[in-house]
Amino acid sequence: MTVTILAILFLLLVLAVALFGFRAVIVRGRSPEDLQKEQCSICRRKINKSSLVEREIGDYKVLYFCSSCIAGLHRDLTMKN
Ligand SMILES: [Zn+2]
Repeated sequence: MTVTILAILFLLLVLAVALFGFRAVIVRGRSPEDLQKEQCSICRRKINKSSLVEREIGDYKVLYFCSSCIAGLHRDLTMKN
């Protein structure tokens, strides 16, 4: 009897883990609107790709910068000189 209850509990646990994993995969999937957006490398805000500047660093790393961060960088540079 105890073994049966333990077996059922174990089965429920496996099912719960499987269901949780499945949900995590669905949630992680990006919507088409999300695919148009990228994260700014400085402020980490998600912004539409069309209003971001894209720069390739090295062979594969691509960085995006938003207009307000670029303005901030420009301000830093002009304040230095
Ligand atoms: Zn930014």
